Amino acid sequence: MLFVFLLIIISQSVKTTTIIWAWAAGLMAAATILENSKWADYHIQIFEKNTSPGKKVIISGGGRCNVTTGIEDKKILLSKYTRGADFIKKAFGKFSPRKCREWFESHGVPMKCESDNRVFPISDDGTEVVEAFTHVFAKYRDKVTLHYGEWVSEVIKIDTRYQITTPKWAYESDIVVVTTGGNAYSHTGSTGDGYAFARSIGHSITQLWPSLSSFLTREKWTHELSGLAFEKARIENLEWPILLTHFWLSGPLAFMYSSQIAWEAINKTNPKTIQLSPLADMWVAEWDSFLKLEFANHPKKLITNILSEKLPRRFAELFVREYCPHIETTYPVSIARIDRAKIAELLWIWIPLTLTDRRPGDEFVTAGGVSTDEIDPETMESKIQKNLYFAGEVLNVDGYTGGFSLQICWASGYIVGRSIVENIKSA
Ligand SMILES: Cc1cc2nc3c(=O)[nH]c(=O)nc-3n(C[C@H](O)[C@H](O)[C@H](O)COP(=O)(O)OP(=O)(O)OC[C@H]3O[C@@H](n4cnc5c(N)ncnc54)[C@H](O)[C@@H]3O)c2cc1C
Repeated sequence: MLFVFLLIIISQSVKTTTIIWAWAAGLMAAATILENSKWADYHIQIFEKNTSPGKKVIISGGGRCNVTTGIEDKKILLSKYTRGADFIKKAFGKFSPRKCREWFESHGVPMKCESDNRVFPISDDGTEVVEAFTHVFAKYRDKVTLHYGEWVSEVIKIDTRYQITTPKWAYESDIVVVTTGGNAYSHTGSTGDGYAFARSIGHSITQLWPSLSSFLTREKWTHELSGLAFEKARIENLEWPILLTHFWLSGPLAFMYSSQIAWEAINKTNPKTIQLSPLADMWVAEWDSFLKLEFANHPKKLITNILSEKLPRRFAELFVREYCPHIETTYPVSIARIDRAKIAELLWIWIPLTLTDRRPGDEFVTAGGVSTDEIDPETMESKIQKNLYFAGEVLNVDGYTGGFSLQICWASGYIVGRSIVENIKSA
C-alpha cells in the first residue's frame, strides 16, 4: 500500500508508502513506482487536500504549463538554479530535461520547445500534463488509492513506521514521501505543511522567502509607463524582458532578479537600489556613437526625438524629463560632450530604481526549504529518518522561470520513485 505521501504495510508481502502530495513531484514519484514495480505486492495511497490533482499546473505557464526547459548543456542548466544546483545535479543526471520531455511524449503528451527554450505541451493545455498521470493511475488502479479532499495534518514516526493523520483517519506506513510544495499561491493548497512535517521528524528548514515575483519601486515613473516592456533589459548580470505595470516592476527579468536576491529583506525602510539598462545590447560606447552620429546628422532634432529612435517614445520623454531636463529643449549642436557622455552612461547602466517591496502573494515559488544537507541526492531519502523521502519545491532547491521549477519536481520525483522501487525490491 502507498500514500503521497505511498502507504505500505510491511507484513508478509505488501509494503505501504505514503505520498503527501499531489502535484508535480508526488505524481512523478507515484507513476515511477507503478510503472517500475508491476511485480511487487504493494499499494499506493495518495493524499491531496484539493478535490482534484494538479491545481497549480492548470494555472502554471499561464495555463499552458511550461513543463521543462530545452536547455541540454548541464552547466548552463545548473546556472539557472539559484539554490541547490549542486544537490539537484545528480537527479538531472538521471532525469534530464530531455528525458522529462520523452517521458511525457511516451505518455501521450507531445511537446514543443519554443524559441526561448521553454518546453510546453503542443496543445498549450496544462491539463494534458496532469492527465498523463491520471492515465497511469487508472492503468494501475488496483495498486493506487486517491484520497482527494483529504489533507494530512500530522506525520509522526513510531518505531520503524510512520503514522499519517488526516481528519478522517490515522494511517500506518512504512515509507513516507513529502511533496507538499512551498508557500507560494497558497490558495492552490501549498501552505507549507511539509516544512512542519519535516521539522517534526527532525529535519531543519532554511529561511523561507518568496521568489519569482514582481517588485514595487519608489520611482513613480515605472508605474506611469505602465504597459511598457523592454524585450532585453539588464539588471546586474541578468538580461531578460522586463515589464512595467501599474504597480509593479514585472516580467522575467524582475522574476529572475527576485530569485537572485530572494533571501534579502526589502521594504520601505530597507529599500534596495538597483540599476536598470533598458537595452542590454547597447553598451556605453554604442550609446555614445549613436548620439554622436545623430547629433551630427540632425543638428536641429531635440534629444527626446533622437532617443525615440532607439527607445519607446514614452520612455524617451520620461528619461529626458527625469535625468537631463536641462537639455530638453537644447539642439544637439549646443549639447556639451559631458552631457552626451552622461546620457550614454545613464542609458547603458545607471538608471536607478529603488525596490521597496515584493508583490505579496505574487511569487511563483518559495526560496528555501528542507535543508538538502540532510537529504541523500542519489535517492532523495532523508539522512535523518529511514524510509522518509522528499521531492519537489519543499526542498531547498529553486531557480528561474522557464520550466526550471517543474524540472526539479519531475527529476526529484523520479528519483524518489526509483529509490522506492529498489527499497521494495530489497524488502
Ligand atoms: C502561477 C504559477 C505558475 C507557475 N508556472 C510554472 C511553469 O510554467 N513552469 C515551472 O517550471 N514552474 C512553474 N511554477 C512553479 C511550479 O508550479 C511549482 O514549483 C511546482 O508546482 C511545485 O510542485 P510540488 O509538487 O513540489 O508542489 P505543489 O505544486 O505546490 O503541490 C503540492 C500539493 O500538495 C498538496 N498538499 C500540501 N499540503 C498538503 C497536506 N497537508 N495534505 C494533503 N495535500 C497537501 C497541495 O494541495 C498541492 O496540490 C508556477 C507556479 C505558480 C504559482
